[in-house]
Amino acid sequence: MTESLDVLTSLVAGGGVVVLSGAGLSTESGIPDYRGPSGVARRHTPMTFQAFTGDPLARRRYWARSHLGWRLIAGAAPNAGHRAVAQLQRAGLVDTVITQNVDGLHGAAGSPSVIELHGRLDEVTCLDCGNLTSREELDRRLREANPDFVARVAGVNPDGDVDLPDEQVAAFRPVDCGICGTGMVKPDVVFFGETVPPQRVARCFAAVEQARSLLVLGSSLTVMSGRRFVIRAAKRGIPVAIVNQGPTRGDDHATVCVDAPLGVVLPQLAARVAAGVPLKV
Ligand SMILES: [Zn+2]
Repeated sequence: MTESLDVLTSLVAGGGVVVLSGAGLSTESGIPDYRGPSGVARRHTPMTFQAFTGDPLARRRYWARSHLGWRLIAGAAPNAGHRAVAQLQRAGLVDTVITQNVDGLHGAAGSPSVIELHGRLDEVTCLDCGNLTSREELDRRLREANPDFVARVAGVNPDGDVDLPDEQVAAFRPVDCGICGTGMVKPDVVFFGETVPPQRVARCFAAVEQARSLLVLGSSLTVMSGRRFVIRAAKRGIPVAIVNQGPTRGDDHATVCVDAPLGVVLPQLAARVAAGVPLKV
């Protein structure tokens, strides 16, 4: 373990790092990683773009659950791991952060340059007029349309992913776009079955190809959306370091893997790099 942390430290101290972060970095902020440290799938099948746009009942169920889950995300604060990444970025060692997370916590921790691969949950887009509005504004309108809803489901699970009885879903009233008045609104995040905007992917590939190393933080690399950057780095001979609790699907491509809590490893890493001394545990 100490040996792998030494390798990690020297890679990061060399600068030119691109970070690829996933759900595991935000679990210590109270945001659930639905795949979990052991890679166990979440209880509910994630909403697909096709179901969201094509099935009014699925859309109603999504908004009813999301109306509750949003409170968890909106109330979350960055943790020591996010702050360590921001510190490394401000020190000029990390060039770019690519995140698969939609919680905005890298920015909240002070990271100056973040590519949000899968979008942001705090923004809402209209599928008709294309206008982008804030989730806060939508939340206000959803509350107005559903004045009794929160009170009746006060027992929200810690993971924010509540099981709602059908009659409560049926009673929930989603709202349309507040700008064009009739458009279907959707969180500005990439759903399963939806592709990441090509220009955004291109920016990520460009950053990875210019990197001296790729540092994966808290992602099991289960989906190709993130794993492709690891594969590209490995093909170009760019060293890949992975810090994650549990194995990942990128381990075969990695120069070094550290299996430990990110909130512990990253602040130590940042401190040791800053002090110019090897990391010890
Ligand atoms: Zn609209």
